[in-house]
Amino acid sequence: MKRKAQRRGEFDLIAKYFAPLARGESGALGLTDDAAHLLPAAGHDFIMTTDALVEGVHFLPGDPPAAIAQKALRVNISDLAAKGAKPRAYLLTAILPSSIDNDWLATFASGLKQDQKRFGLTLIGGDTVSTRGPLTLSITAIGEVACGRMVKRSGAQAGDDVWVSGSIGDAGLGLIQSTAQRHSLPPAHSRYLISRYQVPEPRLSLGMALVGLAHACIDVSDGLVADMGHICTASGVSMFINSADVPLSRAAAAAVASGKVSIETLLTSGDDYELVFTAPQSARSRLAVIAAKLRVKIARIGRAGDGEGVSVLDGEGKPRHFDRRGFTHF
Ligand SMILES: [Mg+2]
Repeated sequence: MKRKAQRRGEFDLIAKYFAPLARGESGALGLTDDAAHLLPAAGHDFIMTTDALVEGVHFLPGDPPAAIAQKALRVNISDLAAKGAKPRAYLLTAILPSSIDNDWLATFASGLKQDQKRFGLTLIGGDTVSTRGPLTLSITAIGEVACGRMVKRSGAQAGDDVWVSGSIGDAGLGLIQSTAQRHSLPPAHSRYLISRYQVPEPRLSLGMALVGLAHACIDVSDGLVADMGHICTASGVSMFINSADVPLSRAAAAAVASGKVSIETLLTSGDDYELVFTAPQSARSRLAVIAAKLRVKIARIGRAGDGEGVSVLDGEGKPRHFDRRGFTHF
């Protein structure tokens, strides 16, 4: 980790806040060298992904620093989960405005520490720089999967079932509930939705269990319809979703039932970090066993077919028309 930011008084923030996160991975050299070195476990490929979070775009200025740290790490872990990979290590580039103080950094580092432990990965390097712009955090995560077994976007086949984990649309509603445009929802529902926006739950154990079973997988970051569209494009298939089968949390279902939120909003809002995957119909019973064992909900929401694009069907099987297909952070 290079030392460009000699901020916060006399002490070195890398040594104080980040070096303790590098213990346990000998290739990180305690963040005292210019680079780290790693070998994958025998018979494994490295799987690599990177995702950046920008204040005001991916999180809100007042969000708690530990939650921001967890989200930065978890969106990357979610990408590894979608590929069936086990997390191993990560690099962090923290681009910090002058408003960031020692207390903020200490809490931020504690969020990283907690999630490192939970998801089994270690900081191995990065960079820390100052900016006059917004707080920006970029993480590159490295995971491992058995050689050649990464679950791709491109493997879906016509006839595959389409499945999704957890519940859809909570994070998009959580973002709305975090702003002045919030709907008048029960406070407990609002709190739940905001927590889903601030600290997503990467479906890591499910993703790892899907290796060799799922034909294709992606994590929902742009919105369910848009991300299913990415699988369709990569795989050369079409998909339909029965909107009535899309799993909603109690809070999201209540918001729809009260007429405050449309199903369209839920299916096209981002940041859920659930997994959407396709699998042959012959895998249904094995998937049920996996979901029960891991205590992760999965729902069969549609089917892949020939052709292209995603159609969303209403409760009577008629196509619904959408004005927007997904959420984009740009
Ligand atoms: Mg992704």
